[in-house]
Amino acid sequence: MVHVNIFDTTLRDGEQSPGVNLNQLEKLEIARQLERFGVDIMEAGFPASSKGDFEAVRAIARAIKNSSVTGLARATKSDIDIAWDALKDAAEPRLHVFLATSPIHMKYKLFKTPEEVIQTSVDMVAYAKQRFPQIEWSAEDASRSDLDFLVRIITKVIDAGATVINLPDTVGYATPAEYGYMFRYIRENVPNIHKVSLSCHCHDDLGMAVANSLAAIENGVTQVEGTINGIGERAGNASLEEVAVALNIRKDKYPFTTNLVLKEIKRTSDLVSRFTGMMVPGNKAVVGKNAFAHESGIHQDGVLKNTLTYEIITPEMVGIQSNDLVIGKHSGRHAFKDKIENMGFMLSTEKLQEAFTAFKQLTDRKKEVTDEDLFTILTDIQTDVVDVKKYELLAFQVHYGSSNLPTATVALNTPEGVRVETARTGSGSVEALMNTLEALIKEEIHLTDFKLNSVGQGRDALAEVHVKMTVDGVQVSGRGSAQDVLEASAKAFLNTVNRVFFNKKAVVQVEAAQV
Ligand SMILES: [Zn+2]
Repeated sequence: MVHVNIFDTTLRDGEQSPGVNLNQLEKLEIARQLERFGVDIMEAGFPASSKGDFEAVRAIARAIKNSSVTGLARATKSDIDIAWDALKDAAEPRLHVFLATSPIHMKYKLFKTPEEVIQTSVDMVAYAKQRFPQIEWSAEDASRSDLDFLVRIITKVIDAGATVINLPDTVGYATPAEYGYMFRYIRENVPNIHKVSLSCHCHDDLGMAVANSLAAIENGVTQVEGTINGIGERAGNASLEEVAVALNIRKDKYPFTTNLVLKEIKRTSDLVSRFTGMMVPGNKAVVGKNAFAHESGIHQDGVLKNTLTYEIITPEMVGIQSNDLVIGKHSGRHAFKDKIENMGFMLSTEKLQEAFTAFKQLTDRKKEVTDEDLFTILTDIQTDVVDVKKYELLAFQVHYGSSNLPTATVALNTPEGVRVETARTGSGSVEALMNTLEALIKEEIHLTDFKLNSVGQGRDALAEVHVKMTVDGVQVSGRGSAQDVLEASAKAFLNTVNRVFFNKKAVVQVEAAQV
């Protein structure tokens, strides 16, 4: 069986999804989970794009030992130098450098002739080779490039030292037959192709990213790039969990192996959706809430008699367990610690204490504390940046009635440590609360999105709010959870504002980097 490497780009291409903005602790948490999921390579970011990205890539490169960590660079010496600084401490430093090869990109974006594109690619791969043992070179917009031009440029970048050749369907335009054919053509016509691995990278604009990735594998590709939950620019990337499960369920047709631990799919998907605020649609393959629900009577009857009648994937395969209540009101610290370690959390002593207190408070107010509740509390605590000056909610009160003007009063501590308090009205209770918070905050805020969800089921379920806003012109997103929707809203608002203090992306203008 041929082994296929899994290259995850959730933290780079996925994080380029509009409005997604992860703090460094969230990125580290996702990176650790990707390592546990068994990805061979993870792209941790684009170090030259911002200070925040640089620091996150460096932290991940230092923390991750069982996956190769890579970062993206444009074909310039300075991008490659910055990427080296961020990646040099990795167990296996790996560079991902790209340049566009399609006529439309070369002419209208790069203003370079095809010969200049070849020369720049060769020069930059050779330059990177002085330091990086592993270099992936990507032909941006490969699927709309001339095949014979691709043959020429690939031959030369392999000679210059590239170890992986990635041919992305950058704009999500290719069909499976076309995309597979491109790889076959390259394998048959590039004389030194045996020295490298071939990689595919697909976007989902026409809903064919996973199908295109599988077509590529059938045509000799041994590395698949994609993201968890298929998040990413525009319609997103190939969904890695779908590729993984398709390879497993249909191994009769796809005789390939991967290092992925399928049981980690659910937790990986949950973490990514919670941190990015990009909810997984109920009908999403493999990880959607309804992916294993059988609604029709005929189907239910069949599944009860024999699950194989209608169920091709078992929930257990992807790590979905029935939501058993295993700890409750009377559980002690020890049982709590065991439980959360079992759920994959490793907390410092202080954060463990904080989590235990939050758990105890919740058991006073909620009859049953589920795994979903714990997951929400624990991820919040684990990714909360503690030693930074920020806005803190001291108290709030909201008056609402169908016949009066909704009014909120809020007291905050400012990052400078000053207590401030005021009241404002709004057309609804949430708006009144948001208006009041906005009035107390120095930074200029525009709220652009507000989403309210319940965690799990039942009338006492936790509320989770995701918001997107611009703070002094910088786009940020954040979240908050509480048992009450208004408290969750206020927490989400402040969590988002506070991100500018510790996640300040020195917004460097980067030319379209949409590999
Ligand atoms: Zn991409």
